Amino acid sequence: MVDLNRRGFIRSLFSIGSIGAASSSEAQVQARGKSAFVWCDLHNGHVGFPTGLDAPAIRPGSIAKLIAAAALVEDGFNTNLQFECTGTYKVGGNVGGKELSEVHCQFAHGSLDLRRALAYSCNCFFAQATRALTTRAFLTKARALGLSSPVAGRSSGLFPGAESESKPSLPYVLGLAADFKPNCLQLMRLAGLIAIGPGERLPVLHSSENFELKDKEKPLAVALTRKSAELLRSGMRLSVQEGTAAKLDPQNKMQIAAKTGTTDHGKKFQSQIIGFFPYDKPRNAFCLFSPAGTSVDAAVPEASNLILSTSW
Ligand SMILES: [Zn+2]
Repeated sequence: MVDLNRRGFIRSLFSIGSIGAASSSEAQVQARGKSAFVWCDLHNGHVGFPTGLDAPAIRPGSIAKLIAAAALVEDGFNTNLQFECTGTYKVGGNVGGKELSEVHCQFAHGSLDLRRALAYSCNCFFAQATRALTTRAFLTKARALGLSSPVAGRSSGLFPGAESESKPSLPYVLGLAADFKPNCLQLMRLAGLIAIGPGERLPVLHSSENFELKDKEKPLAVALTRKSAELLRSGMRLSVQEGTAAKLDPQNKMQIAAKTGTTDHGKKFQSQIIGFFPYDKPRNAFCLFSPAGTSVDAAVPEASNLILSTSW
């Protein structure tokens, strides 16, 4: 399945990547060339840093589709509605200039609904489904899910200011906007919130090595409805069963639910994966950042090695 042209082809998926040119902080992370893995216990809030204390903050790529999907469902979006993916979708209209004229998928996904679009991370579906979603609505949901708030004693990654609310939403939906760079711990917390669902509170996250609860951090209420939480959970589960994270746990040892994200970085890629397990009774959430490679080539196999070789 991997052929010599694959890299060139994957690059073409990021024809809108010029919107989010790599920043110097991304370059620094890349220069260190180190993956980062963080995990947390959803019952007591302990955070583990097995690969070191780095918590890189980069553009989230397709992990942002979780936020867009929640915003859609809570706005009454019909989760049975299907859109057709032919591999390319012309966005049209004045939605961010020529960089944003088309989005691509690596494969033509055919007809899919929101849940499958999450599992397969279909750009063409999300470009069509979010035509009426405003950046304001996206950012409001992102804020409610902790993506502008401190976490485990660390300050938030970059979050867009009010001036961005009038911009087109698609770069945010696809996680490629230059001014939205949540850190790994915030993305891990997002997975934790989805895992535990509405009506619950996630404990304040804190390093298990350095127990220091920072002021101003409070337990986060889960800002999802029953319907949106269930859609995100089942989409993330399907991603591991047959979608973009299918190689994470092929034997289903840990019952993981996950979402991947890849972003272009100069001539290379970097990728992340967030998730939680076990699916039925979530106990742990995690985020892995890989500085080199797409999620299929890097974040998924690296997370698989780490998770399956650990005694939980
Ligand atoms: Zn697609």
